[in-house]
Amino acid sequence: MSHGSATLIDGVAVAKAVRDDLQREVAELAERGIVPGLTVVLVGDDPASAVYVRSKEKTSKELGMKGETVRLPADTPQAELEALIDRLNADPTVHGILVQSPLPKHMDENTIVRRIDPAKDVDGFHPVNVGKLLIGEKDGFAPCTPAGVQELLVRYGVDTSGKDAVIIGRSNIVGKPMAALLVQQGAGANCTVTICHSRTKDLAAHTRRADIVIAAIGKPEVITGDMLRPGAVVIDVGINRVNDASAPKGYRLVGDVHFESASAVASHITPVPGGVGPMTIAMLLKNTVRAARQAGK
Ligand code: NAD
Repeated sequence: MSHGSATLIDGVAVAKAVRDDLQREVAELAERGIVPGLTVVLVGDDPASAVYVRSKEKTSKELGMKGETVRLPADTPQAELEALIDRLNADPTVHGILVQSPLPKHMDENTIVRRIDPAKDVDGFHPVNVGKLLIGEKDGFAPCTPAGVQELLVRYGVDTSGKDAVIIGRSNIVGKPMAALLVQQGAGANCTVTICHSRTKDLAAHTRRADIVIAAIGKPEVITGDMLRPGAVVIDVGINRVNDASAPKGYRLVGDVHFESASAVASHITPVPGGVGPMTIAMLLKNTVRAARQAGK
């Protein structure tokens, strides 16, 4: 596939570089008797969640961390999950706790997220961490996907200071925390931020004046090249399945950005797959290593 003159932002390579740094940091911590521990809790047997969870456990172990998965049946009472979280909160060998989403329908995700000790909430969804992110307090945890986007911008040397960043999507997982990260002072930030969403009047008018476009919409190929300013940096968070009879599985993955047309005008662009996707687990482990360092035990 052609990508014009745009630089392809390689999330596979950056995720590996992040993991390599972490591996060194984990070795240093080991000398002080600290082994960062991540416990992932999986309730039920959603097949996509099972894949994510296996990959999180495997990657933590590869880095020399303690990676553990607790699997609970789909009909587990909420009180039992809460009791498990209480035990993990109290366990000094567990530095990061992640309860895999989605939870079964009878459980209330908001209550569960609030049960996790904010110091171990490496997903960054506890209101304390959401607040710390907005305030700019560095000891909190930012959600992994937008943190991964910022890491890509930093590692590719994208100058973000004073730039117009337009984020499309206002979810609590991607859009809103992305805006909170980019508006802060610091590396990979200092942006003038606009958040667009499903009620935005004229999306193209916003994207056309953006230096940095971050698409987190969840709809295939909404952002086309004619909606971009030449030289824009384009980050595509979307992962969408589209039917494709010629593909072995009968579908292929595309982003929220129309890659062919966008890459002809962009200065930098992330592919899907292989852009933002690989960064999420790397950032989760980065948060866990920092949680261990901050706990100091
Ligand atoms: P979401 O459905 O919660 O939010 C989508 C947002 O897009 C909403 O805020 C909505 O207002 C906005 N939107 C929808 N249609 C629009 C339109 N036509 N114009 C402008 N805005 C529109 O989704 P999410 O959880 O934020 O995820 C977004 C995408 O990112 C999905 O494709 C998801 O699969 C992907 N994602 C990838 C990763 C990863 O790479 N690791 C992680 C999380 C999400």
